Parts: sequence; C-alpha cells; structure tokens
Amino acid sequence: MARQLIAGNWKMNGLLADATALAGALAERVGAGNAAENGPSCDWLICPPAALLYPVAQAIAGSALALGGQDCHTTAAGAHTGDTSPALLADLGCRYVIVGHSERRSDHGEDDATVKAKAESAIAAGLTPIVCVGETRAERDAGRALAVIERQVRGSLPLVGDLVVAYEPVWAIGTGLTATAADVAEVHAAIHQLLQTLLGAARGDETLILYGGSVKPSNAAELLAVPHVGGALVGGASLQADDFWAIGTAAS
Ligand code: PEP
Repeated sequence: MARQLIAGNWKMNGLLADATALAGALAERVGAGNAAENGPSCDWLICPPAALLYPVAQAIAGSALALGGQDCHTTAAGAHTGDTSPALLADLGCRYVIVGHSERRSDHGEDDATVKAKAESAIAAGLTPIVCVGETRAERDAGRALAVIERQVRGSLPLVGDLVVAYEPVWAIGTGLTATAADVAEVHAAIHQLLQTLLGAARGDETLILYGGSVKPSNAAELLAVPHVGGALVGGASLQADDFWAIGTAAS
C-alpha cells in the first residue's frame, strides 16, 4: 500500500493571520522533499477554506505539505455564484479536493450523483478527489452501516482516475466519539473489497481509504494500525500544529 496520508480539514475555521501561521509552522516541520527524511513517513495535506488557499499556498511553498480544497463545483467554469471550480483549485496549487463530506451532504443536500460529478470534474482538472462516505448513527443502530456505505461508494466514485476514499461515520465527526478499531476494520475491509470489484485488483489495492471522525493524538496509533486504513482525515485536531504532527507520527 502507498504511504499513509494525513489530511487536515480545517472546515470554516481560520482567519488570514492564524491560518498562515499554522500552515507555516506545519510546513516547517514537514520540511522539503520526502517527508520520510524529516520525520514521520506519511504524506501530509491541509485543506483550508477556499478564500485562504492562496495565502496558505504561499506559506507552505517549497515544503512537502500538500494543499487541497474542501469542495468544488461539478463544472470547470460558468455562472455559479459563490462556487469554486476545480480548475481554480489546481491553479492555486491544490493537489486534492474533498468531495461529499457529510457536512456538504447535509448542509447542501448533495447526493451521491452530485458527489460523483464533483469527483469527475476534479479528476478532469488534474486533482485527486477525496470522496467521503459514512453512515449516520441511526443507520448504524439499524444494522445498515455497510449497506449505506456500499450504496455511497457505488454512487459517488468515478471509475477512472486516481482518487482517495474517506470513511467518516457521521456520528463520529466533531463529536469526540470514535468508531472502535473493530468497526473501522470491518468497514475498511468492506470498502477495500468493493474497490477491488469496481476498480480492479491493482487499483483497488492502491486506492487509499482514510478514516475520519474525531481522530486525535491519543487514538491515532490504534486507528492507523487497522488493516486497510490508508491514513486519516482530521478535522478539529488539524487546527493545532502539535496535535496534527502527533497524529502523523503515529502513521505507519
Ligand atoms: C472531518 O471534518 O472530516 C472530521 C473528521 O472532523 P473531526 O476530526 O473534528 O471529527
């Protein structure tokens, strides 16, 4: 499997001064070139709010810390007030973009077809989409977690192009609750199996499956050691340089 990816989702947090300071501090720790030479042997990514992408790109220039967007439009350009095109993300230096985060699915009514269109549009612009899936508490309690995740994976994933999948149980995001290692193992094995079916054995193996949902320094080592966990998508703990770095040091 490829190196684990430790991705920070800053959500709608940060103003110019503190965001560039945080980005600069992280870039200094990650260093230039291969992060393995400088510390933890993982890949690093931060996804600031869209309006902060340009100054953050300047703050991390020359480091191995990658930049990503938190969302993009389904099309490359046009009359879509307030939206961000994947082409602009790429132009600003982004390599990744998160699509289908549960907060987008619930706040903006994004369904699987929309998420898939966004992921396809991201790939067409040269970006790697991080496609988020995950069940609600009610769906898990009803024994439907795996069925919901399978539906989301089948409906949201483009079948061509590099991509990353993020399993984020909705009930674990920003709540301090974390899925157990056993639950993560079950879901990641199921997603891995499905990716092999959908993408073929080799691409299914290569495609990283991140876990997200209240990952923090105290639980990162256990979660990142679960089979088929290809890294972490980190919200709250990515806003503190020490915590985000500590999570990366737990990467295998
Ligand atoms: C997220 O925003 O994707 C996330 C997992 O948030 P948190 O780590 O705060 O639960």
